[in-house]
Amino acid sequence: MKQEYIFIGPPGSGKGTQTIMLSKETGFPHIDTGSLLREEIASGSEEGKIADSFISKGQLAPIELVAKIIKNRLNKNDCKNGFILDGYPRSTEQAEALDKILEELDGNNQVNFKAFYFDVSEDKLIERLVNRRSCSNCGAIFNLKTMNMKETDKCPKCGGNLIRRNDDTEDVAKKRFDTYFSQTAPLVDLYRNRGKLVRIDASLSIDEIHKNLTGAIKENVNS
Ligand SMILES: [Zn+2]
Repeated sequence: MKQEYIFIGPPGSGKGTQTIMLSKETGFPHIDTGSLLREEIASGSEEGKIADSFISKGQLAPIELVAKIIKNRLNKNDCKNGFILDGYPRSTEQAEALDKILEELDGNNQVNFKAFYFDVSEDKLIERLVNRRSCSNCGAIFNLKTMNMKETDKCPKCGGNLIRRNDDTEDVAKKRFDTYFSQTAPLVDLYRNRGKLVRIDASLSIDEIHKNLTGAIKENVNS
Protein backbone atom coordinates (compact mmCIF):
# COMPACT_ATOMS: atom_id res chain seq x y z
CA MET A 1 0.00 0.00 0.00
CA LYS A 2 1.19 3.49 -0.79
CA GLN A 3 2.61 5.28 2.27
CA GLU A 4 1.81 8.96 2.52
CA TYR A 5 3.45 10.79 5.40
CA ILE A 6 3.30 14.42 6.36
CA PHE A 7 5.58 15.85 9.00
CA ILE A 8 4.44 18.68 11.23
CA GLY A 9 6.72 20.38 13.73
CA PRO A 10 8.26 23.71 14.65
CA PRO A 11 11.71 24.87 13.56
CA GLY A 12 14.25 23.30 15.91
CA SER A 13 12.16 20.19 16.55
CA GLY A 14 14.60 18.03 14.61
CA LYS A 15 11.99 17.28 11.98
CA GLY A 16 14.32 18.09 9.07
CA THR A 17 17.07 15.74 10.29
CA GLN A 18 14.57 12.92 10.82
CA THR A 19 12.92 13.26 7.42
CA ILE A 20 16.31 13.04 5.69
CA MET A 21 17.26 9.92 7.69
CA LEU A 22 13.89 8.30 7.06
CA SER A 23 13.92 9.09 3.37
CA LYS A 24 17.31 7.34 3.01
CA GLU A 25 16.03 4.24 4.80
CA THR A 26 12.64 3.91 3.15
CA GLY A 27 13.49 5.23 -0.31
CA PHE A 28 10.47 7.53 -0.20
CA PRO A 29 11.40 10.99 -1.46
CA HIS A 30 11.68 13.73 1.12
CA ILE A 31 9.74 16.68 -0.22
CA ASP A 32 10.69 19.84 1.59
CA THR A 33 8.22 22.50 0.53
CA GLY A 34 10.62 25.43 0.98
CA SER A 35 13.23 23.83 -1.30
CA LEU A 36 10.54 22.75 -3.75
CA LEU A 37 9.37 26.35 -4.18
CA ARG A 38 12.95 27.60 -4.56
CA GLU A 39 13.63 24.94 -7.23
CA GLU A 40 10.44 25.81 -9.06
CA ILE A 41 11.46 29.49 -9.15
CA ALA A 42 14.99 28.61 -10.28
CA SER A 43 13.60 26.42 -13.09
CA GLY A 44 11.87 29.46 -14.61
CA SER A 45 8.56 27.59 -15.05
CA GLU A 46 5.31 29.51 -15.37
CA GLU A 47 4.32 28.56 -11.80
CA GLY A 48 7.80 29.47 -10.59
CA LYS A 49 7.58 32.93 -12.14
CA ILE A 50 4.23 33.65 -10.50
CA ALA A 51 5.45 32.31 -7.14
CA ASP A 52 8.53 34.52 -7.41
CA SER A 53 6.42 37.63 -8.03
CA PHE A 54 4.91 37.15 -4.57
CA ILE A 55 7.85 35.77 -2.63
CA SER A 56 10.30 38.42 -3.87
CA LYS A 57 7.96 41.05 -2.40
CA GLY A 58 7.95 39.24 0.92
CA GLN A 59 4.39 37.96 0.38
CA LEU A 60 3.11 34.41 0.64
CA ALA A 61 2.50 32.62 -2.64
CA PRO A 62 -1.25 32.00 -3.25
CA ILE A 63 -2.61 28.78 -1.81
CA GLU A 64 -3.84 27.42 -5.20
CA LEU A 65 -0.45 28.05 -6.79
CA VAL A 66 1.46 26.26 -4.03
CA ALA A 67 -1.07 23.41 -4.24
CA LYS A 68 -0.45 23.12 -7.98
CA ILE A 69 3.33 22.93 -7.49
CA ILE A 70 2.91 20.30 -4.75
CA LYS A 71 0.52 18.28 -6.89
CA ASN A 72 2.96 18.25 -9.81
CA ARG A 73 5.70 17.04 -7.50
CA LEU A 74 3.58 14.31 -5.85
CA ASN A 75 2.52 13.13 -9.28
CA LYS A 76 6.11 12.25 -10.23
CA ASN A 77 7.11 8.64 -10.59
CA ASP A 78 9.35 8.52 -7.51
CA CYS A 79 6.30 9.19 -5.30
CA LYS A 80 4.28 6.25 -6.56
CA ASN A 81 5.02 4.04 -3.52
CA GLY A 82 5.04 6.85 -1.02
CA PHE A 83 6.45 10.19 0.03
CA ILE A 84 7.41 12.26 3.04
CA LEU A 85 6.00 15.75 2.83
CA ASP A 86 7.75 18.26 5.09
CA GLY A 87 6.56 21.82 5.73
CA TYR A 88 3.16 21.37 4.13
CA PRO A 89 0.38 21.74 5.09
CA ARG A 90 0.93 24.52 7.63
CA SER A 91 -2.69 25.58 8.10
CA THR A 92 -6.12 23.96 7.92
CA GLU A 93 -6.64 25.80 4.63
CA GLN A 94 -3.59 24.09 3.16
CA ALA A 95 -4.73 20.78 4.67
CA GLU A 96 -7.96 21.07 2.69
CA ALA A 97 -5.95 21.83 -0.44
CA LEU A 98 -3.85 18.71 0.22
CA ASP A 99 -7.01 16.60 0.69
CA LYS A 100 -8.10 17.64 -2.78
CA ILE A 101 -4.69 16.94 -4.33
CA LEU A 102 -4.54 13.43 -2.85
CA GLU A 103 -8.12 12.70 -3.83
CA GLU A 104 -7.25 13.55 -7.41
CA LEU A 105 -3.95 11.66 -7.44
CA ASP A 106 -5.01 8.52 -5.56
CA GLY A 107 -8.56 8.10 -6.83
CA ASN A 108 -10.04 5.03 -5.17
CA ASN A 109 -6.70 3.41 -4.39
CA GLN A 110 -6.05 2.42 -0.79
CA VAL A 111 -3.37 4.52 0.85
CA ASN A 112 -1.83 4.69 4.27
CA PHE A 113 -1.82 8.34 5.33
CA LYS A 114 -0.30 9.55 8.59
CA ALA A 115 0.53 12.96 10.02
CA PHE A 116 3.55 12.81 12.31
CA TYR A 117 3.58 15.60 14.84
CA PHE A 118 6.95 16.49 16.35
CA ASP A 119 5.77 17.59 19.75
CA VAL A 120 8.17 19.67 21.80
CA SER A 121 7.56 22.48 24.29
CA GLU A 122 8.33 26.06 23.48
CA ASP A 123 10.73 26.30 26.46
CA LYS A 124 12.73 23.37 25.17
CA LEU A 125 12.89 24.86 21.66
CA ILE A 126 14.10 28.19 23.01
CA GLU A 127 16.71 26.45 25.13
CA ARG A 128 17.97 24.62 22.01
CA LEU A 129 18.04 27.82 20.03
CA VAL A 130 19.95 29.97 22.51
CA ASN A 131 22.59 27.25 22.79
CA ARG A 132 23.00 26.92 19.06
CA ARG A 133 26.28 28.06 17.54
CA SER A 134 27.60 27.80 14.03
CA CYS A 135 31.16 27.71 12.77
CA SER A 136 32.20 30.92 11.02
CA ASN A 137 34.50 28.91 8.78
CA CYS A 138 32.78 25.64 7.74
CA GLY A 139 29.17 26.43 8.71
CA ALA A 140 28.71 23.34 10.88
CA ILE A 141 26.04 23.74 13.57
CA PHE A 142 26.53 22.77 17.21
CA ASN A 143 24.60 22.85 20.43
CA LEU A 144 26.80 24.00 23.33
CA LYS A 145 24.74 22.17 25.92
CA THR A 146 24.31 18.76 24.33
CA MET A 147 27.90 18.71 23.11
CA ASN A 148 29.28 19.90 26.45
CA MET A 149 31.10 22.78 24.81
CA LYS A 150 32.08 26.21 26.11
CA GLU A 151 31.34 29.54 24.46
CA THR A 152 35.06 30.01 23.75
CA ASP A 153 35.64 26.56 22.23
CA LYS A 154 36.66 26.22 18.59
CA CYS A 155 34.86 24.23 15.91
CA PRO A 156 35.62 20.50 16.52
CA LYS A 157 35.64 19.91 12.77
CA CYS A 158 37.89 22.66 11.47
CA GLY A 159 39.03 24.80 14.41
CA GLY A 160 37.07 27.87 13.27
CA ASN A 161 35.40 30.35 15.62
CA LEU A 162 31.87 29.64 16.83
CA ILE A 163 29.29 32.36 16.27
CA ARG A 164 25.71 32.93 17.31
CA ARG A 165 23.16 34.05 14.76
CA ASN A 166 21.63 37.45 15.46
CA ASP A 167 18.08 36.13 15.34
CA ASP A 168 18.78 33.29 17.78
CA THR A 169 17.60 35.35 20.72
CA GLU A 170 14.88 34.47 23.15
CA ASP A 171 12.58 37.36 22.13
CA VAL A 172 12.76 36.72 18.39
CA ALA A 173 12.38 32.98 18.95
CA LYS A 174 9.36 33.42 21.19
CA LYS A 175 7.54 35.51 18.59
CA ARG A 176 8.33 33.01 15.86
CA PHE A 177 7.10 30.07 17.92
CA ASP A 178 3.92 31.83 19.06
CA THR A 179 2.98 32.40 15.41
CA TYR A 180 3.87 28.83 14.54
CA PHE A 181 1.89 27.22 17.36
CA SER A 182 -1.22 29.35 16.81
CA GLN A 183 -1.22 28.31 13.12
CA THR A 184 -0.53 24.63 13.58
CA ALA A 185 -2.63 23.86 16.67
CA PRO A 186 -5.86 23.64 14.59
CA LEU A 187 -4.00 21.50 12.03
CA VAL A 188 -2.87 19.04 14.70
CA ASP A 189 -6.45 18.87 16.03
CA LEU A 190 -7.79 18.23 12.55
CA TYR A 191 -5.58 15.19 11.94
CA ARG A 192 -6.08 13.95 15.50
CA ASN A 193 -9.86 14.06 15.03
CA ARG A 194 -9.48 12.06 11.84
CA GLY A 195 -7.42 9.44 13.68
CA LYS A 196 -4.41 10.18 11.45
CA LEU A 197 -2.10 11.86 13.95
CA VAL A 198 0.99 10.14 15.34
CA ARG A 199 2.64 12.11 18.14
CA ILE A 200 6.42 11.91 18.29
CA ASP A 201 8.12 13.14 21.45
CA ALA A 202 10.64 15.56 19.93
CA SER A 203 12.17 16.55 23.26
CA LEU A 204 14.26 13.36 23.12
CA SER A 205 17.67 12.89 21.46
CA ILE A 206 18.05 12.43 17.69
CA ASP A 207 18.66 8.68 18.09
CA GLU A 208 15.70 8.17 20.40
CA ILE A 209 13.36 10.14 18.13
CA HIS A 210 14.57 8.11 15.17
CA LYS A 211 13.93 4.83 16.98
CA ASN A 212 10.40 5.87 17.95
CA LEU A 213 9.68 7.18 14.48
CA THR A 214 10.81 4.07 12.63
CA GLY A 215 8.88 1.96 15.17
CA ALA A 216 5.71 3.93 14.47
CA ILE A 217 6.25 3.60 10.71
CA LYS A 218 6.73 -0.18 10.94
CA GLU A 219 3.56 -0.46 12.96
CA ASN A 220 1.76 1.69 10.42
CA VAL A 221 2.94 -0.33 7.44
CA ASN A 222 1.92 -3.61 9.09
CA SER A 223 -1.47 -2.42 10.27
ZN1 LIG B 1 34.15 24.53 11.35
